[in-house]
Amino acid sequence: MPRPLSATIHLDSMQHNLSRARSCAPHAKIWAVVKANAYGHGLERAMRGFALADGLALIELEYAVRLREGGWIKPVLLLEGIFDASDVPLLAEHNINSTVHCIEQIKMLEYTQLYRPIDVHLKMNTGMNRLGFQPGDYAAAFKRLRAIPGIRNITHMTHFANADELEHPRLTIAEQVRRFQHGVQGLAGERSLSNSGGVLHQADLGDALSNDWVRPGVMLYGGTPGGRSALDYGLRPTMTLRSEIIGIQELVAGDTVGYGSRFEASGPMTVGVVACGYADGYPRHAPHGTPVVVDGVRTTLVGRVSMDMMTVDLTPIRNARVGSKVTLWGDGLPIDEVAQAAGTIGYELMCALAGRVRVQEGRMGTDG
Ligand SMILES: *Cc1c(COP(=O)(O)O)cnc(C)c1O
Repeated sequence: MPRPLSATIHLDSMQHNLSRARSCAPHAKIWAVVKANAYGHGLERAMRGFALADGLALIELEYAVRLREGGWIKPVLLLEGIFDASDVPLLAEHNINSTVHCIEQIKMLEYTQLYRPIDVHLKMNTGMNRLGFQPGDYAAAFKRLRAIPGIRNITHMTHFANADELEHPRLTIAEQVRRFQHGVQGLAGERSLSNSGGVLHQADLGDALSNDWVRPGVMLYGGTPGGRSALDYGLRPTMTLRSEIIGIQELVAGDTVGYGSRFEASGPMTVGVVACGYADGYPRHAPHGTPVVVDGVRTTLVGRVSMDMMTVDLTPIRNARVGSKVTLWGDGLPIDEVAQAAGTIGYELMCALAGRVRVQEGRMGTDG
């Protein structure tokens, strides 16, 4: 018997969330973002779950090649572009679109002959101050890129720092859009602006975004970029992490649990041991009180998460036993809620799913 821990990926939910993104931005083409092994869901599964996307966008060139080898024929985009001139021939060979965000990348494309034309996204830094050309330098970068014979379409791209909030006090979406419009003035080409937050706010921002392409990531995996819950947006969980109770302890007042003896029982209580720990991707810093579902009933984590196990309060669970079903996140327990209790975001939990966790596919509402 393998360990009872497994992650179930809901391809039907991935399809559903993609169609939600479509209805939020009905006039835009969609890059489904599949970086970091499709936010922990598996690249090949994402190819099937997002078969109706207009393209797949990611960071890792070797995974982009894997998409081609797996039969994906629609566009593929590298969101950070290339890291070395030796990557240029692979772009042409596998028909991969590249982001261009700095002068060094333009030089790589100038020095290495493209034997087949490629499309690129030229990135503008509109205030995020991570990657991209300043608005004032953008037109010059565009002209230099335009002069390279192997470059076909150039799409204008930027990235929002605060897309989960409409009116961020430091930097609003509207201000970034204003800088973007200024930078691209008079330059031909399509536009690619929004991540999940931007897509979810598309209706509030109206025509201001003028997105030809959008780049949703986390919303396709049933997570939200901001504080609101995925259910509010009509999104469904795509990854359910489940395990079982593998041991039970009856405590009396004063007994402590786990490493550091950080949790102390204030009276008689039943504690269940769950086969899941930080080596599986469950956050070690999740505190006492983090929600867990056992046999369909909500309870909480107690004590410290260890490498292979964690302990939960079984007092509210009637007839709990070794073998009781435990949901750590997903169907019946939003991943963002667990993340928030643990002081992180749903993105990090999905991406951190460890290689030793068995992954299977199944529909929501079933036991996997
Ligand atoms: C990761 C990423 C996205 C997707 O962001 P989400 O918040 O997950 O929707 C979009 N664009 C770029 C450039 C990214 O790196």
